[in-house]
Amino acid sequence: MTNQIPDWLKKLVAASKASLHNGSTACVDKTLEEGKLNTVCHSARCPNRGECFSKGETTIMILGDICTRGCKFCAVNKAKPGPVDLEEPAKIAQAVKQMNIKYVVLTSPTRDDLPDGGAAHFAQVITKIKELNYGVKVEPLIPDFQGRADSLKTVLAAKPSVLAHNIETVPDLYSRVRIGADYGRSLALIKKSKELAPDIFTKSGIMLGLGETDAQLKQTMKDLAAHGCDLLTLGQYLAPSNAHNLVKRYPLPQEYKEWEAYGLSIGFKAIAAGPLVRSSYKAGELYSKAIGL
Ligand code: SF4
Ligand code: SF4
Repeated sequence: MTNQIPDWLKKLVAASKASLHNGSTACVDKTLEEGKLNTVCHSARCPNRGECFSKGETTIMILGDICTRGCKFCAVNKAKPGPVDLEEPAKIAQAVKQMNIKYVVLTSPTRDDLPDGGAAHFAQVITKIKELNYGVKVEPLIPDFQGRADSLKTVLAAKPSVLAHNIETVPDLYSRVRIGADYGRSLALIKKSKELAPDIFTKSGIMLGLGETDAQLKQTMKDLAAHGCDLLTLGQYLAPSNAHNLVKRYPLPQEYKEWEAYGLSIGFKAIAAGPLVRSSYKAGELYSKAIGL
């Protein structure tokens, strides 16, 4: 049980960060700063920024940076969120144009304080981005909307390319890791999305290292596949601080390759798996794989 990152992983992070210093990264950095947009890429100091930005991909956080829940693995602050910024959809659409971004992941804190969980705002941001940026693909990474089918429908009606919702971990760990969430409800959301919009890819993500066993991980992957999940990410959990869930293990890169092969064998269309993979890691590339490009 340790938060001490092994040397081999530190080297991987350092190599990935080395790619941060290139022209396209600087342009994206500047636009995001000027537009005062929240990106997970920056707030989480993600080591993959060089890779993602140079491919024209980023993850923008909408609906503020305060969450109504308090997952024990997540660095986002829990408090009472502020009002929704009605100018945000236009602001984001403009920034996407300026950055010449080709694939945008939109995420948000969970907003249980809003009657629709923020679904209409998600839809407006997707619509505005698409209006102003011909051909840009958008992937909303949505909260569970407390199981509201109407909210899910609202987001799907904006016609994103991928509908993502992270299952995060195995069901046995939910009570100590993902407080306020429900494993069955998250699976049901993915299934419902596939039923309502069969042409929109569904996607989920699992963090490794929170204490799951291999058997539990396998079962969770099977559950996702059985509920119509097309795309999957598997990456290492890293504790934001010592007050968060401790890291229980650091699977080696080879193990991720084995999980990827297993996932493809049970029906996932594409998988990104590796110690540095985040749920939005090279999201555009994963989408391209799924459509066979
Ligand atoms: Fe973080 Fe999402 Fe959990 Fe909120 S619901 S604490 S944003 S993981
Ligand atoms: Fe941003 Fe996600 Fe890429 Fe990290 S993995 S840089 S958070 S898009």
